[in-house]
Amino acid sequence: MKNYAKPLAKLIAELNKLPGIGGKSAQRLAYHILAMSDEEAKQLADTIVEAKQNMHYCSVCGNLTDTDPCSVCSDPSRDRKTVCVVENPRDVSAMERIREYNGLYHVLNGAISPMDGIGPDDINLRSLLVRLQESDISEVILATNPNIEGEATAMYIARLVKPAGIKVTRIAHGIPVGGDLEYADEVTLSKAMEGRREL
Ligand SMILES: [Zn+2]
Repeated sequence: MKNYAKPLAKLIAELNKLPGIGGKSAQRLAYHILAMSDEEAKQLADTIVEAKQNMHYCSVCGNLTDTDPCSVCSDPSRDRKTVCVVENPRDVSAMERIREYNGLYHVLNGAISPMDGIGPDDINLRSLLVRLQESDISEVILATNPNIEGEATAMYIARLVKPAGIKVTRIAHGIPVGGDLEYADEVTLSKAMEGRREL
């Protein structure tokens, strides 16, 4: 990096750590922030801290929420016999957008990836098994991403859950292989749910 003054260099470096923000974008954002009024800059900083302090993972499903349990888990109109397992809270938002699914969720906050040293105990999986034991859930829909990690995670969960006599389905591959659930358009996601198959 060029010889930026220290505070500016530090701001650029922090912004550069964000996903999708390369060096050029980080530089542009940093200059934009410095051009803000003191009040605007403080509001941005406070909003980040506030969101970080008030959002946490739902103790039931692992979704990001400002209440516990989250709004889905505590909604009496949701079908409590079906659980859709996804990798991250962004996938819950994607599923909610199609407005066809009325069951519950379980958010793994990751996927099994031996290559990266991420095993079953490193994701929010144990709590799913406890949940399945303690409630009368009759179907588990595996909606992990259609890539190597997502498939491995789905297979692993299916192996654990099926012996308990619970129906296990996997969403269909209308979603491009190697793609991310959160970027799928609504029609594709809707088709993927419709075409889910039993494992
Ligand atoms: Zn929840």
